[in-house]
Amino acid sequence: MAEKRVALVTGAGRGIGACIAKTLAADACDIAVVDYSDASAAEETMRELAELGAAARYYQCDVSGFAAVKAVADQIVKDFGKIDILVNNAGVTADDLLLRMSEAEWDRVLSINLKGCFNMIKHVTPYMLRKRYGRIVSISSVVGLMGNAGQANYAASKAGIIGLTKSVAKELGSRNITANAVAPGFIRTAMTDALTDEQKQAMYKLIPLGSLGEVQDIANAVKFLVSEDARYITGVVLKVDGGMYI
Ligand code: NAP
Repeated sequence: MAEKRVALVTGAGRGIGACIAKTLAADACDIAVVDYSDASAAEETMRELAELGAAARYYQCDVSGFAAVKAVADQIVKDFGKIDILVNNAGVTADDLLLRMSEAEWDRVLSINLKGCFNMIKHVTPYMLRKRYGRIVSISSVVGLMGNAGQANYAASKAGIIGLTKSVAKELGSRNITANAVAPGFIRTAMTDALTDEQKQAMYKLIPLGSLGEVQDIANAVKFLVSEDARYITGVVLKVDGGMYI
């Protein structure tokens, strides 16, 4: 039997990240869940990962902290022996029109969404380099490609992830490390469930496939990008958006 791969997934306690973690666990990966809240918030996800047969551990960490991320990456390698796959999924929004956006709202979103990816890639890739193997997938957004009124901070952070991904792909390709981004469109989550029917209808008009995406659609894209089938793919932005941005 092939050796299991170890995947570090940030923001894996809930939402899209939890689905990515479970999908990789079902695909012969052990999972390091890195999340902001204390472990009790991710109890259900950890139980489901164990049921899928994965060795799974929880690491509480704010991805925006440079030193904290190094400590967690080092600990994960102590616990699991290696990190084969890094999925940068943790992300936040703090929406406001630019005229009203505060410096704190800008800094918070950029430091978690973009610097968080830098911190992880910076501290995880030395271990990948030693193994001459690595798969990095960072979750961007279609908003990073098209912009969005009221989300200048979020759109800038998600566009930044694309530049970061392409640069890392160029720097580390010769060492068998790929770096790709996934750009989700509107995905059905608690946030979109709370919208009115009218708001949902307006949203559907923007999407050629006529419906919202599911968290599993994003997890499937990540699973593909870290698979052997995608071994010759690096530096791409895979849009999973029902055609919302073409
Ligand atoms: P979510 O349900 O809000 O989950 C975000 C996760 O990130 C949570 O587990 C959260 O932890 C974690 N997190 C937040 N701040 C963190 C920090 N400083 N350090 C470590 N972890 C932190 O979001 P989602 O909808 O699943 O989205 C996941 C990713 O997809 C995000 O990057 C988002 O921008 C992107 N995306 C989502 C959509 C969509 O329609 N949902 C569309 C495009 C892109 P806590 O639970 O502890 O707060």
